[in-house]
This record gives sequence, structure tokens and C-alpha cells, in this order.
Amino acid sequence: MASIFSKIIAGDIPSYKIAENDKYYAFLDINPAAKGHVLVVPKQEVDYIFDLDDDILGGLIKFAKPIAKALDTAFSPIRTGIIVEGLEVPHAHVHLIPMYPDRKGFSLGKKVDLSSDEMQQVANDIRKHL
Ligand code: AMP
Repeated sequence: MASIFSKIIAGDIPSYKIAENDKYYAFLDINPAAKGHVLVVPKQEVDYIFDLDDDILGGLIKFAKPIAKALDTAFSPIRTGIIVEGLEVPHAHVHLIPMYPDRKGFSLGKKVDLSSDEMQQVANDIRKHL
């Protein structure tokens, strides 16, 4: 059965899309650990990130880089961090999480409550800088 992220990539489940090319898809995490929390996913459905082919794994970071820079420009965090966990969704992905002065360091799990209008605004603010 397709993973929830494959369903998002296929457009069967809605997402706050940030960027896409033929190999990768980026969208807002629905349970943001901070404003601007983005998931970057290879379209190839592989559970464990270190089972990805080398070129897809390397390309994942390259695809994530301008998104991290866009987060930095859009929201001026101290910096944007990257987490790999993968315990909830068995489809490899990285979390990009801006770190703000009030929360140096980070962990996963919902920490900010944003309405769907606010999530859409966050996505627009990131896309403007890509
Ligand atoms: P993990 O697999 O532990 O790295 O975490 C999976 C992440 O996917 C969690 O932070 C969830 O909030 C997020 N997530 C799960 N379903 C969705 C969805 N439909 N849209 C956006 N993010 C999601």
C-alpha cells in the first residue's frame, strides 16, 4: 500500500506544497515543531533513509538546501536545523526546522498551533524566496 507521503505526492491527500521536481517533493509538516517546519521527501518510496540509492540520498540534501535558505530569509531564525527520524511514516524524509531564539535546539512533535490560513501563508512566504 502506498505511504501517506506517496498519496500526498500523487495529490490524493492535500498538502501545503513548497517545492517539487521529478525526484523530490517538499511540504509543510502538519504538526509543526516550529513555524516553517518542512518535510522533504524523495518520490521513490523507501522506508529507511540509508537504504536510498546514493544519488537519491545526495540529491535529497541538495533539493533541501534552497528550501532551508528560503526559511532563513523568510523567518530569520537563528538557523534552520535538519532532523531524520522516520519512526512514524515509513517513507524516507528529512525535517527542516527553523530554530528561533525562544527555542534553541529542537525536537519533533507539534509545538505551534497554526490555522489552515496561517499554514497557507507560511507556505507562500517560503515559496516567495525560492
Ligand atoms: P517521522 O516519521 O517520525 O519522521 O515523522 C513523520 C512526520 O510526518 C510527523 O512530523 C508528522 O507530523 C508528519 N505528517 C504525518 N502525516 C502528515 C500529513 N498528512 N501532512 C503533513 N505532515 C504529516
